[in-house]
Amino acid sequence: MARMKAAQVNKAGGNFELVDREIPQPGPRQIRIKVEACGICHSDVLTKEGMWPGIQYPRIPGHEVAGRIDAVGSAITAWKVGQRVGVGWHASHCFECEACRRGDFILCAVGGISGITYDGGYAEYMLAASEAVAGMPDDLPAEEAAPLLCAGITVFNALRNAGARSGDVVAIQGIGGLGHLAIQYAQKMGFHTVAIGRGKDKETLAKKLGAKDYVDTAAVDAAEQLKKLGGAKIVLATAPDSKSMGELMGGVKPNGKLIVIGASPEPIQINGVDLLSQRKAVQGWPSGTAMDSEDTLRFSSMTGVRPVIEKFPLSKASEAYDRMLSGKARFRVVLTMGA
Ligand SMILES: [Zn+2]
Ligand SMILES: [Zn+2]
Repeated sequence: MARMKAAQVNKAGGNFELVDREIPQPGPRQIRIKVEACGICHSDVLTKEGMWPGIQYPRIPGHEVAGRIDAVGSAITAWKVGQRVGVGWHASHCFECEACRRGDFILCAVGGISGITYDGGYAEYMLAASEAVAGMPDDLPAEEAAPLLCAGITVFNALRNAGARSGDVVAIQGIGGLGHLAIQYAQKMGFHTVAIGRGKDKETLAKKLGAKDYVDTAAVDAAEQLKKLGGAKIVLATAPDSKSMGELMGGVKPNGKLIVIGASPEPIQINGVDLLSQRKAVQGWPSGTAMDSEDTLRFSSMTGVRPVIEKFPLSKASEAYDRMLSGKARFRVVLTMGA
């Protein structure tokens, strides 16, 4: 039996262990991917620390996977060996719950997650359910495509479904792993893109990424600044800072929306009078399906949206993960599988 290298976690809170494992065989409706790159996402903490209910070990994390199809199951007709593909967070759905029967697969009541329910992409090979596979354009390098399969799709999908129209003011709160992609997508979608960050130092980068305006929360009241621009149709909150999210609601224009994608367990305080009198809304957004991922990759290829990344080889998975956790990485950390 052929073998592969993988970085796995053996127990909740355990360290990454580099192991030599059998290359798994695809079931009838599965696809095997020769992984070329896998992004490290903050949500990988759920796998490493055992924070997802029911997670079983050993488990290989990773839900930002880019590679090439290496084998297909006996029932697969739409995918071919050699095709470039990606896999994100959403790893499977049941086709039977109410959400699935309504075609809303991302909200499947028992949906599987790459790297949590199933082994993910911190490995040379991985299996994916056919419904989790997204086609990938040839001109996207694997290491740049990988972060688009979680960070990218989440902001792209939230923005394109936000209800804003070309020219509307769309504010991106936070200029990190999610935010630096959101600024690029918002600009390419034709929105008046406003970046909201803390400190003067991020202004040049935010503008280079496509922001028309920059709001420095250390110097000014961000909600007031947004009001001066006529108010934001959409505020996309990417930094997990509930206090700042609540405060930004004042800068949302009538009929506008605060969209939450930066995950924080802290409650967000919203003024109910402001909310109802201005018919404002607060919404969350989960990533998306494989088809949404495919759209994200195609749009990125077409418009030149790319993540800023730091690369580590698979053998340095532990260092790479620590780098992600430090919050100092610019901006997404990616494991590469090498030749
Ligand atoms: Zn993620
Ligand atoms: Zn379902």
